[in-house]
Amino acid sequence: MVSALASRGVEAIAELIVKSRKAVALTGAGISTESGIPDFRGPQGLWKRVDPKIGTIEFFMEHPDEFWRFQLDRLKEMMKAKPNRAHYALAELEKMGKLSAVITQNVDGLHLKAGSKNVIEIHGNLRTAVCIRCKRVIPIEEALRLIESGVFPPKCEKCGSLLKTGSILFNEPIPEEALTRSYIEAETCDFMMAIGTSLQVYPAAYLPVLAKRRGAKLAIINMEPTPLDDIADVVVHGKVGDVLESVLKLVKNMVEGRGQRA
Ligand code: NAD
Ligand code: ZN
Repeated sequence: MVSALASRGVEAIAELIVKSRKAVALTGAGISTESGIPDFRGPQGLWKRVDPKIGTIEFFMEHPDEFWRFQLDRLKEMMKAKPNRAHYALAELEKMGKLSAVITQNVDGLHLKAGSKNVIEIHGNLRTAVCIRCKRVIPIEEALRLIESGVFPPKCEKCGSLLKTGSILFNEPIPEEALTRSYIEAETCDFMMAIGTSLQVYPAAYLPVLAKRRGAKLAIINMEPTPLDDIADVVVHGKVGDVLESVLKLVKNMVEGRGQRA
């Protein structure tokens, strides 16, 4: 359930969605915690248990075996995870023509599993593995088969170099196409919702700032305060599943109400 304070925010968000010409969502690890995948910086975050250096490209290059052991646990977790109410609510809003894109920092693929179509995965994904030298991309299942057959850490069958998961590590560049697409979305939207993200990782944290500069409205839905709460038009501190389910319900009522009056 959303609190009384949050419910005013929910109404404001639903109105902004209905009024907007182009609404986009920016999501972070907090949208997937209700699917059983821990976030990084939240109260139960992964970085409370694990040294963040394991997520850097430098660590991967020096200790690929340790990196892959760590990734295998996360992979298993993510492969069996199912989308939750928040992912489904965004997919439904897109189907209704009320959300044009989801820009996500997540690598779990849950937006696509929930049925969202226009998804920009700025940090890559775990459906693939990539060779660090010849850049050949293979399905993650092929890398897992190599591991099962005793090749560890897994190596490219074409050139023999190391394979890395298709997710972007710290200190690695963001894929250019995804970055360009997300800048275009931020510059052309008139409403952005930042959902379940601590807004501390760049360039994702810059997208709401860019949207605001271009005149868009900004809503932030997160359990904890974020550094961008001050520039947001609406801030709701609550659980993403509760908040987005309530938002979707209100949007449906508003759209149907309008239909009846017309
Ligand atoms: P983050 O861990 O920095 O922040 C998550 C935020 O979500 C926190 O502020 C937390 O309070 C909030 N939160 C957690 N559960 C919530 C809930 N149920 N309702 C509302 N808020 C909730 O995550 P971020 O901002 O996405 O940081 C970026 C990095 O985390 C990215 O590099 C991303 O690739 C990575 N990451 C991805 C996954 C995934 O794919 N699911 C998991 C962990 C980390
Ligand atoms: Zn190769």
